[in-house]
Parts: sequence; C-alpha cells; structure tokens
Amino acid sequence: MLLEERNLADIAAFLSGFKSFQEKYFGGDESVYARLRQGQSPRALVISCCDSRADPGMLMGAGPGEIFVVRNVANLVPPYSESAELPGIRADIEFAVKNLNVERIIILGHSGCGGIGALMEGEGVTTSRYEFIGSWVSIAAEARQRVLREIPEASRAEQAKACEKRAVALSLANLLSFPWIRQRVETGSLALHGWYFDLDDGELLEYSAETDRFAPLVQRRTGISK
Ligand SMILES: [Zn+2]
Repeated sequence: MLLEERNLADIAAFLSGFKSFQEKYFGGDESVYARLRQGQSPRALVISCCDSRADPGMLMGAGPGEIFVVRNVANLVPPYSESAELPGIRADIEFAVKNLNVERIIILGHSGCGGIGALMEGEGVTTSRYEFIGSWVSIAAEARQRVLREIPEASRAEQAKACEKRAVALSLANLLSFPWIRQRVETGSLALHGWYFDLDDGELLEYSAETDRFAPLVQRRTGISK
C-alpha cells in the first residue's frame, strides 16, 4: 500500500472517530459542551508520556473538560527554575495550577517507555543519535544513576522498568521544588500522585513517598485494591 493510500485510510478512521464524538456531544444532549463553553475547570493535571499506548483520557475514561493533560517524552518534570530554560513544561504546569487551580497533579508513567529506554542506553550524552531527546531525558539522569547503583546485575528490561518508576518519583520531587506548588501542597489545596501504568499486565500502580515504593492501585483480577 502506498503511503498516500495508507494516510487516507488513517484520516478516514480519524474522521469517523470525530463523527462519533460529534454525535455523542453535539447530536442530542449538548449539556456537556453547553457547560464547557463557559470555560474549563478540570480537577486534575495529568502529566503523561506521548506514548500512543498510554493516553490518560483513554486509560482513565475521562470525558471532555475532566483532565488537563500535558504530555512529553517520558512524562518528565524538570526542577523549578527562574530562568527561561524549558519554559514549555513549566508554563503548562503554571497554567494548570495558577489559572485552573487543579486539585491534583498526577504523573503517569508507563512500562516500555522509549524515552526512558533512551536514557538507560546513555542517550543523555553528546554522542546521541537524537538531536533533542538525549538532553530532554537527561532530566531524569539521577533516576538512571540510582538504578544502575542499586541493581547493577539486573537485566536491561528490569533496570528500564525500575528507572521508569524512579523517574516518576523524581518528577514528583521536582514538582515540590516549585514554590507555588509546595505552598499549595502544604496548605492541603493540592495533592500530588505518582502513578505507573504497567502495560505488560494491565495494572495501575501508585508511588508511596512513605515506603519509597510502588504498590498496586488497580490490579487486573481483584479490582481496586484500596
Ligand atoms: Zn513513554
């Protein structure tokens, strides 16, 4: 199949998807968008990976207006900085917190992450096959170093999985370096969550700062575990 023909098939599927969406929200009951036209007030900011298998709206069954989503390679949050460096992600977070007053920030990691894979392969250094990914994922260099120190004998797959989780914990810590996030967390108006979608077994795990470990939040067979 030629690329052009394949693209037309892709576009047709996307347009069909939009028609279903249109029928659902603009066909009969338009109450959702009647409300959303007045503005948005999502309760949560979700920071997730760009990975097509880890779409937070799909995973969480969130409808229009329910979650404010920021996606980047490997769902990373850099530490706070007053400089203009990396304004994109910091501006996204600032808008969600200061303008939308979200009540929660969920960092959603996932297994099989290509960004973390690049980090584990040492793509953060000068000789990278990528132009930009290496310097971006080096935000989580500390997570990689810790994994290599703690489980040096583990397989690459196990190390990558451990790094995906450590990177979520690191991003949570980085969120707290933003003074206006820390202040809201301390006064109880904002909660931070670190989640991990394990697409190998279809489970959702949650990070506990108390134990510094991830534990099942939604297991596959037994339903919600807490
Ligand atoms: Zn990823």
